[in-house]
Amino acid sequence: MFQRLTTKPDDVNSLLTHLECTVCGDRHSPHDVQTVCRSCGKALSARYDLVKGKQIVSREWFQSASSSFWNYAMFLPVEKAESVVSLGERVTPVLRLTSLEKTMGLSRVFIKDEGHLPTGSFKARGLAMAVSKAKELGVTAVCIPSAGNAAGALAAYAARAGMEAHIFIPADTPEINVAECRATGAAVELVNGTIADAAGRMNQQKKNHPDWFDVSTLKEPYRLEGKKTMGYEIAVQFDWKLPDVILYPAGGGTGLIGMWKAFRELEILGLIGKERPRMVAVQSDGCAPIVKAFEQQQKESQPWADAQTIASGLRVPKAFADYMILDALYTSKGHAVAVKDDEIRRAVMSVARDEGLYCCPEGAATVVALRKLVQRSLVRHGETVLLFNTAAGNKYPEIILEQP
Ligand SMILES: *Cc1c(COP(=O)(O)O)cnc(C)c1O
Repeated sequence: MFQRLTTKPDDVNSLLTHLECTVCGDRHSPHDVQTVCRSCGKALSARYDLVKGKQIVSREWFQSASSSFWNYAMFLPVEKAESVVSLGERVTPVLRLTSLEKTMGLSRVFIKDEGHLPTGSFKARGLAMAVSKAKELGVTAVCIPSAGNAAGALAAYAARAGMEAHIFIPADTPEINVAECRATGAAVELVNGTIADAAGRMNQQKKNHPDWFDVSTLKEPYRLEGKKTMGYEIAVQFDWKLPDVILYPAGGGTGLIGMWKAFRELEILGLIGKERPRMVAVQSDGCAPIVKAFEQQQKESQPWADAQTIASGLRVPKAFADYMILDALYTSKGHAVAVKDDEIRRAVMSVARDEGLYCCPEGAATVVALRKLVQRSLVRHGETVLLFNTAAGNKYPEIILEQP
């Protein structure tokens, strides 16, 4: 077993067995460079030998892994320690929001602050994993369409791995995201429109560059594995009694789907029971395809026209794995909530003032959504609530600089 105090495992012992299609169930080798299911084109999901895992791990094992998510390597896809590309990822803190508890009349409200991760957003989890696995598979160039933070994270990890990165990003993405990509040496192309248009442009360019490996949200199977570690961390941080409600700002949905997967794995490992948090997807009313589909009880979403929001991470007109997000919402008896950009702006300021935490707009959106759920009596006194701040507020200086 590897030394569980470093951010880089010496010995990995991954229990990865294969990739499985999330729709048709087809099995694929985890040693091929591939993105989606070759039979039906849908998202793939990594599978592990959890029967063996159950004989090895315990709650204490997970607890003692509390310095870095790489310590969960047994349940991660990277198979050789030397493949790991790390910028020093740490387990992120869960903070209690006592002022918010008082004003909302709730007993326990927490926020997991993902702004502590490299490149200032939780995109680091997924892209650390994707770049590490790509390196292991011999990939030398990666490409991505991004609404902002994923681009910055990919550019940084690719630089660290010595890989080429090709980034396609909406022309009106926050300047800082474009700047951080260029700073780390990535090739950046600005595209008019949203992430959907950026993806269109990338797919055009990819035809001339067969060596580019596409790490688009959930078209690449391992970013999900990185995001999954949030679910493991939560189980440990809440002492194996998961929160009653989790509010997550959903764009492509990797984090929500990842936590949902983590809870299932922990159940199979015998570490938690059948209980699950009610999962809530939060979006901006300027781009709320998941909320609309949820309200109409649909299995998939429809592309959102004219997507606009200051919460740039939520500006995803149609998530590739929308069916997985919606399934988690329905199965957990959760909700989907849209909030206004003005409400988000005000929440960034009020949480900064009342709690000393400078949230990103996506994180502030979960605060607004919680207030709405309390007003509708869908979250009540006595319940434990977990919000997500998915990036450092400092990555969005325009929000505080614009204050009157
Ligand atoms: C990408 C992003 C999101 C949405 O995450 P998904 O996993 O795509 O749903 C939320 N907040 C921030 C800050 C992001 O960068």
